[in-house]
Amino acid sequence: ARAAASTIPVVDGALSDGTKIPLLANVGSPKDGLEAVELGAEGVGLFRTEFLFLDSKTAPTVADQQARYTELLSFFPGKKVVVRALDAGADKPLAFLNSAHEENPALGLRGLRALRASEQILLDQLTALKGAQDATEADLWVMAPMVADAEETRYFVKLGKALGLKTVGVMAEIPSLALMADQVLAAADFVSIGTNDLTQYTMAADRMLGSVASYQDPWHPAVLRLVKMLGDAGAVAGKGVGICGEAAADPQLAVVLVGLGATTLSMTPAALADVRAELATVNPEQARARADAALGASTAAGARAAAAAVGP
Ligand code: PEP
Ligand code: MG
Repeated sequence: ARAAASTIPVVDGALSDGTKIPLLANVGSPKDGLEAVELGAEGVGLFRTEFLFLDSKTAPTVADQQARYTELLSFFPGKKVVVRALDAGADKPLAFLNSAHEENPALGLRGLRALRASEQILLDQLTALKGAQDATEADLWVMAPMVADAEETRYFVKLGKALGLKTVGVMAEIPSLALMADQVLAAADFVSIGTNDLTQYTMAADRMLGSVASYQDPWHPAVLRLVKMLGDAGAVAGKGVGICGEAAADPQLAVVLVGLGATTLSMTPAALADVRAELATVNPEQARARADAALGASTAAGARAAAAAVGP
């Protein structure tokens, strides 16, 4: 099954002028990876490794992790696979990383902060990933979740490189990281924007809370302006700025995100075909025109309407 899946031809994501925008998949398990290949993913843009261990009471061993990461990577020979270090906390608590009660877990010891406080768990995961990198032909990229600034970026990149990982970056999910985009891009090999949390923190609206769900809209120009800061910094640094939040699965927003500087888009595999079709209708200049229109709006609804009014 592995060999068969990896030989299915994939149509590359591209704009109408041929500019490539690799379309990648968000996955939560090796099995999801196989499905993603079948739905035309060009690689994986977000492997949520914490999903593997949501029921674990104790930290996973290096050997257990290495086996699972190797299984996923084996489905993507020659392809990019972006693996996220354990993102524990708030909506994704892990018993072995989040033990203390917190009033506001979304603002607590989570993501990279939790890993840094339990550094051996982070070292074990990066060691397992290095083993998987060596055991397969996939192009492994590793990133940290919930990174606040350039200092945390340097901490993670240094650790990953010291353990032999080739490509190490960070997720942009906290507004402070986007505001420091130039320093962050100088330190990291790449950035991947998690629009779910970036929206939550920009709008100060809990993504789990129905009463403020209307704020959780990545079309909000405030979110788009932060994406642009990251896109601009990526262009200056000559480094990739991907999107791996749900925003990338909205075909109209995907075009705007590319216009803001996104170089790859990662999404739920079911959305790949629609996003690929929409991207193929615009050239880079048209994508930028839609992005500019959205940036000038005052509300999420206004940005959506302004981008649509630009037309193809
Ligand atoms: C995000 O925050 O946009 C993201 C991709 O990570 P998660 O949804 O797993 O928090
Ligand atoms: Mg997130």
